Amino acid sequence: MNIAIAGAGIAGGYLAGLLEQRGISPDVYDGRGHASRCTCRSCGWGAPTGIGPYLADVGLDLDDYLIEPMSPMDFDGLVATTPLCTVHKPRLLQDLTKSVRLKRQDLVPEKAEDYDIVVDATGINRALLPPCRSDLTLPTLQHRVIVESRGSERLGAGVYGNRIPGLGYLWIFPLGHDHYHIGIGGIGLLRHDSLLERFYRDASGQFSFTRQCCCHGLVRVASPYYSTPFSVRKTRSDGSPQVIIGVGESIGTVSPFTGEGIVYSLECARLLADSWPDPEDYTGSVLARFAWMKKERETLDYLLSPEGKSGPRLRDRWRFFCNARRSGIGLPMLEAFKRMGSLSQWVEGPDV
Ligand SMILES: Cc1cc2nc3c(=O)[nH]c(=O)nc-3n(C[C@H](O)[C@H](O)[C@H](O)COP(=O)(O)OP(=O)(O)OC[C@H]3O[C@@H](n4cnc5c(N)ncnc54)[C@H](O)[C@@H]3O)c2cc1C
Repeated sequence: MNIAIAGAGIAGGYLAGLLEQRGISPDVYDGRGHASRCTCRSCGWGAPTGIGPYLADVGLDLDDYLIEPMSPMDFDGLVATTPLCTVHKPRLLQDLTKSVRLKRQDLVPEKAEDYDIVVDATGINRALLPPCRSDLTLPTLQHRVIVESRGSERLGAGVYGNRIPGLGYLWIFPLGHDHYHIGIGGIGLLRHDSLLERFYRDASGQFSFTRQCCCHGLVRVASPYYSTPFSVRKTRSDGSPQVIIGVGESIGTVSPFTGEGIVYSLECARLLADSWPDPEDYTGSVLARFAWMKKERETLDYLLSPEGKSGPRLRDRWRFFCNARRSGIGLPMLEAFKRMGSLSQWVEGPDV
């Protein structure tokens, strides 16, 4: 049986490794047509240390990719412990695909005809599956910057919803040696660039910022439930059957609230490998495992609707609290509920 994986991002690269362990050798395609300096898709490289066991499954050691722990971390002025860290994602992607048959070109539909099973691991592109039944994407802008302190205080890791006048947040993720990813993701924001510039201006008394590069990107925050179908069965021009199956962000395994997709894409790839090659069983597992993402998506839909202008409901606040708890972020419950009130500021404030 001929198998191709389109996309050697975190989901496709990891799936290839898991399948190799099961004696299946797919052809992996990725033209890596990214304009970014790091040659991979724009990403903050923030992940929980719980990524370690996934990497261990394919013989990799988190310590080889760990850049910096992000505990403590600032959430709109509230400092909390977290299990988050930054990982060297480009190096990780390279190592994930070291022992697979990697073709440095995109998989186009005509070439995909050669394969009995094609995995669409093309992330936001979703290049081979039909469109999601109800897509929702989050536009982002991220800079890599060198930050120098004008005093003795070092810029810490943080996430700030209250700096954004729409639905979204600004993040500061340290990359070691005074380098940082500083970015903004927001739905309905017109001026990501001016919001980032405002942040630099506001902080210029304490820090100087030298920009190294800049990436625009979209994150699929639709949730898996709204990203169906996960698979399609086709008949090729010679009459033989073919299955196309999605994995990772192509089928929405990203937290709609936070845009985190690294670990969830690994988890999704593992579900696919475990049910290989049974698309129906796999679809059921993904929908069950990521059912919470459907609820987060529904909160986003509510906050973006005219009714949502009155701010988050109790259930929305609860979902935010569950999100923080799921990520191991040590926010005290009452304080967390209060802070999540800043959600209402997000939806009420005017764009700049
Ligand atoms: C600015 C930004 C910051 C983010 N920060 C974080 C973060 O800090 N933590 C976190 O957990 N998540 C973050 N995310 C989300 C995370 O990057 C993604 O959810 C995750 O990388 C998805 O992995 P994937 O393998 O499914 O898709 P991708 O990483 O997008 O990989 C898809 C691959 O497919 C390739 N491709 C596309 N079309 C084709 C084709 N036709 N043929 C072959 N290959 C193709 C692409 O080149 C790409 O390499 C961020 C996203 C953005 C945009």
